[in-house]
Amino acid sequence: MGKLLPSIRQIKDHRMTPDAIDADYLIVGAGAAGMAFADTILTDTDARILMVDRHHRPGGHWNDAYPFVRLHQPSAFYGANSRELSHGTKDAVGWNKGLYDLAGGAEVLGYFDQLMQQRFLPSGRVQYFPMCNVTSDDEFESVLTGQRHRVKVKKKIVDATYAATAVPSTHPPKYSVAPGARFVPLNDLPKVAQPQADYVVVGSGKTGIDACLWLLEQGVGPERIRWIMPRDAWLLDRAKIQPGDEFFFDTIGSFARQFEAVVAARSLTDLFDRLEAGGELLRIDSSVPAQSHSGLWCPYGPASTSHCRWCAPANPLLAPL
Ligand SMILES: Cc1cc2nc3c(=O)[nH]c(=O)nc-3n(C[C@H](O)[C@H](O)[C@H](O)COP(=O)(O)OP(=O)(O)OC[C@H]3O[C@@H](n4cnc5c(N)ncnc54)[C@H](O)[C@@H]3O)c2cc1C
Repeated sequence: MGKLLPSIRQIKDHRMTPDAIDADYLIVGAGAAGMAFADTILTDTDARILMVDRHHRPGGHWNDAYPFVRLHQPSAFYGANSRELSHGTKDAVGWNKGLYDLAGGAEVLGYFDQLMQQRFLPSGRVQYFPMCNVTSDDEFESVLTGQRHRVKVKKKIVDATYAATAVPSTHPPKYSVAPGARFVPLNDLPKVAQPQADYVVVGSGKTGIDACLWLLEQGVGPERIRWIMPRDAWLLDRAKIQPGDEFFFDTIGSFARQFEAVVAARSLTDLFDRLEAGGELLRIDSSVPAQSHSGLWCPYGPASTSHCRWCAPANPLLAPL
């Protein structure tokens, strides 16, 4: 019986395509980074590109995001060079009223899909393999069929997975959940079908902020929302980071005031005090010390600032005077 069954190695070899796919660039990951890189290579060179991603369509983590996600910065600042994501319009209603458009998750996904279907693939210079895992420098494998492909790369392998973005829907939490507690990733919030007594939001990054804002927007009173925040963040005011001539003085003025604060600051604490006093940085609760900067987490915490690019004393502009 054993002799009739092929060994695992034989099965694997059977699934290897005979010819290697050759390309100038192998781009691992078709998220925003990989797509923007491919777009520029297509514009500036005549190179041939192989793109491999384990998702079923381009856009990376946006495929896993919660349904009410939107960009936190104007669409004008996001996407690839060859194609505008922004409609060049300002929101007329909602909390972004009067400011330039913020694409929602579905729009971001549609944008990257169109870039692939209407520009990359018709160019004849891009081969795209969705639903495939790159398993080594010269091999990738279909997650659906197990089919393996060898790759011959002439110029570079581009790792566009470096950001390792993870959203709550893709992994279990790093804490335990009490039995009986109804626990969902925020992707499932719009599926709530029965009124709940209270809502507890865990996490204080953009995702946690979005969960709180969405609940408030849907009419859940603030007294019914508990927000567990491991650390408070410094936030940038979006009204001061806008495209458009009419925002020129607000936006460039804000940058100028930030540089002035950097030059005048006598310590890091003094710098952040100055930035807050000038309205360049915001805090949700000014009575609580913030421990991360401008929405960028400082993973090393307040006690050790030497590794953070915002805090690094190696940066002479930020070194204590
Ligand atoms: C909810 C949310 C909102 C955000 N909003 C903004 C915003 O408004 N503005 C902004 O500038 N940034 C925003 N960001 C930051 C965001 O990380 C970047 O905008 C950007 O989308 C990251 O793209 P990426 O290509 O680096 O990574 P990803 O989107 O993670 O793409 C990497 C891709 O590589 C694939 N991959 C990984 N390993 C392999 C492998 N071995 N084989 C094959 N495929 C592989 C992954 O499946 C994924 O599809 C947001 C992030 C989140 C989570």
